[in-house]
Amino acid sequence: MVREHGIVAVIYGGTVVNEDFRDKQVADEWFRNKYNLRLVEKDLEVTGKYRYDEKVGTGGTFGVNYAGMGGRILAFNYRTIYQTEDERMALHQNLVIEHYLKQFNEETITGKQQATCGEPCMAVCKKMNGIYKKDYEPYQTMGPLCGIFDQRAAEKLNHHCDAMGFDAISGGGVLAWLMDLLDEKLLTREELGITKLPRWDTTNFDVINDSLHNAELGCELIDAILERSSILDFGEGVRKWSRIHSREKETALHDRLVYIAFSRRGWMVPNQYWVAGALAPMTIMGKYYMVYSNDFISPRELGKKCAERMKKELILDNLGICRFHRGWAEELLPEVMGSLYNCTDQFLRAIDVLASRLNSRNSPVFWESERNIDYLHTFLKRKKEIDNDPHPELSVWLEKFERDRLEAAREFWYETLKGIDENLREFF
Ligand code: SF4
Repeated sequence: MVREHGIVAVIYGGTVVNEDFRDKQVADEWFRNKYNLRLVEKDLEVTGKYRYDEKVGTGGTFGVNYAGMGGRILAFNYRTIYQTEDERMALHQNLVIEHYLKQFNEETITGKQQATCGEPCMAVCKKMNGIYKKDYEPYQTMGPLCGIFDQRAAEKLNHHCDAMGFDAISGGGVLAWLMDLLDEKLLTREELGITKLPRWDTTNFDVINDSLHNAELGCELIDAILERSSILDFGEGVRKWSRIHSREKETALHDRLVYIAFSRRGWMVPNQYWVAGALAPMTIMGKYYMVYSNDFISPRELGKKCAERMKKELILDNLGICRFHRGWAEELLPEVMGSLYNCTDQFLRAIDVLASRLNSRNSPVFWESERNIDYLHTFLKRKKEIDNDPHPELSVWLEKFERDRLEAAREFWYETLKGIDENLREFF
């Protein structure tokens, strides 16, 4: 941030309270007119996942996502995408349901260790264990993705990563990648300046001790990255680093890193959902400006839907509303802008213009990594073979992948980009 944008800190705070917003009846009237419910009632309805979902007996992104994940689990640097559904289901049951999630439910949910972000919010989404905040994404990338299925081990690595100032998702994705390279003997401990090798043998996995070992290795790797130990200098980003060392190794190291490439050096580890939208060539990734539902959506349509999501998310971002309330906020807030300032159309138009201008700077690069292509291909296969998705285009895409997977992936990527462009270009 300092080097590229001259930003060393972001200070925020202070409150401007409009009189209208202090009057609950004003807000209730908006909600009654639209939903025939009071604000409290509608908000309770849409924030269930983040508070407590009775259907799955847990709450928060960590609890609800892991409870329903089953064969969609991503672990050991995405190696699970190559496993059978039975193997993935067994891994999910034995290591997640019976240990990782069980610990979370006993400690955090049953113990009612939860809090708000400071707003008077019914979602109480901050699911805690002492000082540790349990969100799905960081406890996924620095959890199962790194071969960690124990809360103590995951807390240790997450805390260290946080303390050292790394983004949790990208940090965890890179650690999982380095562990994979160590496990495959494509890199050595000496080259990375560390002492441990990963324990990623799933057949005899010791959920407590092996998780802790992998977390300690993760901490060592973080320190090695910061110290630029041995060959581990990420000063110009992991893509450049990988290009340099792939030449020396005569193998593309980044073929095992799942990431979205942007321009020459930009990269982002995707949100942790095994779906095509997670790898979409959107202008800003990592911020849910994309569709991550588990449905198969044809790529052109997927691109359009991702663009639509971006605009909806921009409504929330620009009005300072937490996205966990999006179930009502993104449709009601434009009307609120009308009610308060008589500017619904202007507001929506400004969002459209902003989205198209951000898109005009988009500089996506076709997936550079083999694992990205496998990530998409195996997602499509699973949709057909396990979910029996009847979408007629799904079979067409699978046939294309059978004929020529690289060409099929390229076409899928460009079709998605076309859909994005079709949706966002008219206001440019
Ligand atoms: S406003 Fe959002 S972040 Fe804050 S407690 Fe509510 S759901 Fe959580």
